Amino acid sequence: MSLSADEASARRAGAVLTIDLGAIAANWRGLRDAGRAAGRPVDCAAVLKADAYGTGAALVGPRLAAEGCRQFFVAHIDEGLALRRALPDHPIYVLNGLLPGTEPDFVEHGLTPVLNHLGQLNAWRAAAQRYERALDAVVHLDTGMHRLGFGTEDAQVLTNERGRLRGLRLALIMSHLVASEEPANPINGEQLSRFRSFVRAMPGAPTSLANSSGIFLGPDYHFDLLRPGAALYGINPLPGRANPMLSVLTLRARILQTRRIDAFQTVGYGGAWRSARSSRIATIALGYADGYFRNLINRTYVHIAGFNVPVVGRISMDLVTIDVTDVPESDCQVGATVEILGPHLTPDALADHARTNAYEVMTALGRRYHRAYIESASYDGPDDAPTDPVGEAA
Ligand SMILES: *Cc1c(COP(=O)(O)O)cnc(C)c1O
Repeated sequence: MSLSADEASARRAGAVLTIDLGAIAANWRGLRDAGRAAGRPVDCAAVLKADAYGTGAALVGPRLAAEGCRQFFVAHIDEGLALRRALPDHPIYVLNGLLPGTEPDFVEHGLTPVLNHLGQLNAWRAAAQRYERALDAVVHLDTGMHRLGFGTEDAQVLTNERGRLRGLRLALIMSHLVASEEPANPINGEQLSRFRSFVRAMPGAPTSLANSSGIFLGPDYHFDLLRPGAALYGINPLPGRANPMLSVLTLRARILQTRRIDAFQTVGYGGAWRSARSSRIATIALGYADGYFRNLINRTYVHIAGFNVPVVGRISMDLVTIDVTDVPESDCQVGATVEILGPHLTPDALADHARTNAYEVMTALGRRYHRAYIESASYDGPDDAPTDPVGEAA
């Protein structure tokens, strides 16, 4: 019997990360429809920075383009160059802006810099003159993040001297929300009014303010273009409330070995965990080198055959030990897999255990996993129940 290269890779893998492109596409449709709910022609982009939050921009980009997504954001120029190979024709905006001397990278690959200050604007205008063509530009206004974007003075120069944009085509004016996941935080309204007055002074260009959680602040925040990242990938845009998004990821790791130990034995580096009873320990094939954070020691579980079993002992670079004493032996044989992320433990839940957020869990996802891309076929609308593409733990 001959295996395909993909099947052979899956057979060798210590852990398999399954990414549901259909769920990402459905999440995008749901967000786009939320933008259209007020009856205005709001468009929905996709933020694909950090390799589409760990899910794989080279596949997610074309999948979303096929769904109707027309505009894409990345953070780094190199992310834009890589995405350009997968998406030859769509606008790609580089959020980190125009680094000195990189104008040719942008122009020759049709990337659009998000201009964060007047210096970048001037350099981009000079490039337009050199190349003797109108170049697309995005202007990022700082409305309170104080991280990137035109500050008050630079913004005033721009609104007073519109000629500074001559030779450029203003493709978008954008700003970024500080605390959109906190609807009651007054900073949201303050940023909204600062953004509105800037936009009023710069008529004619499309506008964008809302990231994932910002979309759920309501139509006042939608402007012309939504800019979701996290929610596309199933991260809950409404912390503390039910997650309206479909889950996208399943991560399963293989049991490499099991052993029985007596009571009062330690497991792993530093002897950091000690058995209180005679125990069965299973060792599974992932570790902190795969983005399974070391601080998860004694704080989380994995799922196997209907049981949430505790992670015990220190997390190693390549290995994690779990206490399977209460799981029937037939369910935790060597070679079987356990669920690390999936229906029983979402990235948001694992993030709680690790005292971080799901963004960090997802962008830390390892490069050693075998990646399987699926389309959850039975899904055909944002109101359907999510499907579990991989099935319950066997
Ligand atoms: C990352 C990012 C987004 C997407 O934010 P999410 O919270 O992931 O939806 C949108 N805009 C900017 C400027 C960003 O940096």
